[in-house]
Amino acid sequence: MTRMRMAGYAAAGLIAITGALAFAQEKPGFKDTPQLPGGNWLVHDADRPAPTVSTPATAPGGAPSDAVVLAPDAWQAETAPWQVAGGVMTVPARAQGARESNLVSKQSFGDVQLHLEFRSPNPPKGNSQDRGNSGVWFMQRYEVQVLDGYQNPTYADGTVGAVYGWKPPLVNAARKPGEWQSYDIIFERPRFAADGRLVRPAYVTAFLNGVLVQNHQALLGTTIYRKVASYQAHGDAAPLQLQDHGSPVSFRNIWVRPLPEAAIAQDLPGGAK
Ligand code: MG
Repeated sequence: MTRMRMAGYAAAGLIAITGALAFAQEKPGFKDTPQLPGGNWLVHDADRPAPTVSTPATAPGGAPSDAVVLAPDAWQAETAPWQVAGGVMTVPARAQGARESNLVSKQSFGDVQLHLEFRSPNPPKGNSQDRGNSGVWFMQRYEVQVLDGYQNPTYADGTVGAVYGWKPPLVNAARKPGEWQSYDIIFERPRFAADGRLVRPAYVTAFLNGVLVQNHQALLGTTIYRKVASYQAHGDAAPLQLQDHGSPVSFRNIWVRPLPEAAIAQDLPGGAK
């Protein structure tokens, strides 16, 4: 190698290093902008941390990179095992006089984003609450209803997309029995004071088949039948549960993203809404 060429490499290296330094110094953003409410950051603050990466799935409805995938081995049945075939889990037929066999996640969760797909039995059997009844129970307490809601009259706060016993869905976005349907739900757990007093209720936002059915809806309390729900204090995490209501409803492609405290919507400083 000639002396000239060596000098050339050294110069190129120096340019690369100074280039990198210049890049590091020139973070996108500003340091001469006004302070945002809350006191931590400026408008377009150059020092504000970039969001962490969650790589989305290639197919719609697939689990992103930071999701907890709840495959069949992530669950346990209360009594009789659920039927499992090709990643699809189905409520088992119940023996005469046997008690229900809800499916309970082995892992516990609090605030979550949940995705799942379900399929109502086809041909449909029964009417009203006896047709394709199941449910997604957050923390084993708070039910977002699963039902065959296609041309199946029932009470409004018990149809698919309802916060059971409290809030009907904004619209009936049910697909026909036998067709796969998707639920995307954001659940914010309730907050309790040390003495058990409710500080903040649970909230649910839900999309059924991509259609908004619950918009940051506050929950009345623990799901209950034919009574007004109320809260009983509990811990910050508990299992998810899929309901066995005696109908062979199927589920697949279930994943959750546990949500950080930053995901919980905050009021503006000073209490302005
Ligand atoms: Mg149900």
